[in-house]
Amino acid sequence: MFSEELEKISWEETTEAIYSKTESDVLRALGKSHCDVNDFMALVSPAAEKYLESMARLSRKYTEERFGKTVSMFIPLYLTNSCTNSCVYCGFHISNPMARTILTPEEIENEYKAIKKLAPFENLLIVTGENPAKAGVPYLAKALDLAKPYFSNLKIEVMPLKTEEYAELTKHGMNGVICFQETYNKARYNVYHPRGMKSKFEWRVNGFDRMGQAGVHSIGMGVLIGLEDWRTDVTMMAYHLRYLQKHYWKTKYSVNFPRMRPAENEGFQPNVIMSDKELAQVTFAMRIFDHDVDISYSTREPAYIRDHMASLGVTTMSAESKTEPGGYYTYPQALEQFHISDDRTAEEVEYALKAAGREPVWKDWDASFDFVK
Ligand code: SF4
Repeated sequence: MFSEELEKISWEETTEAIYSKTESDVLRALGKSHCDVNDFMALVSPAAEKYLESMARLSRKYTEERFGKTVSMFIPLYLTNSCTNSCVYCGFHISNPMARTILTPEEIENEYKAIKKLAPFENLLIVTGENPAKAGVPYLAKALDLAKPYFSNLKIEVMPLKTEEYAELTKHGMNGVICFQETYNKARYNVYHPRGMKSKFEWRVNGFDRMGQAGVHSIGMGVLIGLEDWRTDVTMMAYHLRYLQKHYWKTKYSVNFPRMRPAENEGFQPNVIMSDKELAQVTFAMRIFDHDVDISYSTREPAYIRDHMASLGVTTMSAESKTEPGGYYTYPQALEQFHISDDRTAEEVEYALKAAGREPVWKDWDASFDFVK
């Protein structure tokens, strides 16, 4: 399990190693066709900042070699804002006295129909808060069953499950699982996740092993930028990615680094802010480190960044997302989990991507491929 590997990697020593990288370390990494985690550290280090142009060129080259000009489009659907956890940065946390919604099967189907009217989306991401008693595996299985006539690629972003539960959901058409570790800093993890199942660091970090053991086709990973030093967190994710690729080599991987924005009210304020330039740096570094991994940007990022980065490393994007449960049809005015920055319609995003020379792809996977050996 990855938690055992992580015990051998010191957060403090990794941070020190990153910040002591020199320009020659960066140049060495840029000259390699296969980078290791040590090279990745050089590429995300402050020493690499002045090589952003070269990194962008290399990132674009590797991306086009592997993915052509395609950008895979997906849409998230929040089924519930009911949650038993207390993440200090999230409006859905258990102590927030807000109205909670768990969509009924009929409401879920209405959402699917409403999404299909927006654009020819085939890649659906089903999202829930963590409430296993009320929105657990049987509920998710039902949502997947209902989705099959409408979408060909179904992923979930829900609480970490047991191996057999992941296996069970694949029988209901689930092709992929996304889970954010949020931060790999174990010593600080409970500052942000004080109660509930999400407070159990090992259970969460080993969830990726359980996905791999269950034979999940696609695994998505992510760290929430704004909690701990982002350079160290993405490096830990790079270690984790390599570990998973070695152990579960048939699986396809994606990464995500959503940036938390400063709250306008009294909400949680991020401890660190990642600039636009730094977001570009980590994206290029990830592509140079791993030519095959999907790099995903959500609508948390503003339109101008998404359009620009779509030709420089990003391969998957959401569009016209609503982050409130039932936001497409049932409850368009409910409380959002977080505010999106890119509020263009899917059609507008498609137009902008095409204008930038990209090819938005609505369907890049068909569940029937599962049966092709
Ligand atoms: S981040 Fe997820 S698990 Fe945490 S409180 Fe929000 S919905 Fe619940």
